[in-house]
Amino acid sequence: MITRSPANVQTKTQVVASDAPPPASWQRQLAGAIRDPLELCRRLGLEPNWLPGAVQGHALFEIRVPEAFAARMRPGDPLDPLLRQVLPLNEESLVTPGYINDPLAEAEHRPASGLIHKYPGRVLLIASPACAVNCRYCFRRHFPYAENSPSRAEWQQALDYLRDDTSINEAILSGGDPLAANDRQLGWLVEQLENIPHIKRLRIHTRLPVVIPERIDDALLGWLNGTRLQKVMVLHINHAQEIDTAVVVACKRLKEAGVTLLNQSVLLRGVNDDSDTLASLSERLFDAGVLPYYLHVLDPVAGAAHFDVPDNEARELVTSLRAKLPGFLMPRLVREVPGKASKTPL
Ligand code: SF4
Repeated sequence: MITRSPANVQTKTQVVASDAPPPASWQRQLAGAIRDPLELCRRLGLEPNWLPGAVQGHALFEIRVPEAFAARMRPGDPLDPLLRQVLPLNEESLVTPGYINDPLAEAEHRPASGLIHKYPGRVLLIASPACAVNCRYCFRRHFPYAENSPSRAEWQQALDYLRDDTSINEAILSGGDPLAANDRQLGWLVEQLENIPHIKRLRIHTRLPVVIPERIDDALLGWLNGTRLQKVMVLHINHAQEIDTAVVVACKRLKEAGVTLLNQSVLLRGVNDDSDTLASLSERLFDAGVLPYYLHVLDPVAGAAHFDVPDNEARELVTSLRAKLPGFLMPRLVREVPGKASKTPL
């Protein structure tokens, strides 16, 4: 019987790679991401009736889709689960009661520029205001990044805050996408964290290894390998179709660098709102060496109400999922409730 493993996938990649031109650097891919509604609709071969909604939504929150991610979408299919995550729709301009700009009340938990302290023992550092992909359901789609993009001098205030609070043992690099920052900046920031004795863990929340797998390059692995901190990376993958061979290779390189890999997903109407799709995602994640961690219900952010799956439906779906998977492949269904000291299980 042939078994599928990251190791034999990589062997196949190497064979294919010898015939194909090498992929562009992650920086070039990032700079060349699709940022125009017309280009996205053309690239995916969509009917012209999708363009007005894309233009309207783009004016509220700009389109950004790396080519490597678009290449995993089915051309001509407006219901493709990857396209649904990035294609603006008319619905984004509807006002829905309860859907607001800051659904997690993060503005109340910012003791310094670039720093969010919501939970005991850990803090979030906004290491980059930019993302490689703009996800339409993002709870930070209205986040004031301009006020939270510290210079090196301004980072000192956040670092002093960490130094003064010995109960904090984990620093979480967030954003935006923290890996959109360059390795010189990230290496500097991690070095500052290493110099704070009570910080023992570095967690990185990122979508970049998924949407541009070439981000996991030697420069990044250099500072990851060199740090004394325990390393956890929480990927953000919502559908098995996002995990192609290049993503598997990126995950393997991260694991070889001693990084614990977890995944969080958001339960999204029209993307992953059935148990077969979620079971395939968990299986594919495990094939890539990643453990399912959280399945979040949607945060009620303005412009994203059309993605919502009601709680009772979410619970039924998870019950059905439990019948299909071993326990270790089950993500925890949670909601983030502002003011609570941890995620709330549903
Ligand atoms: S912060 Fe994450 S979810 Fe939000 S747009 Fe960026 S990559 Fe997508």
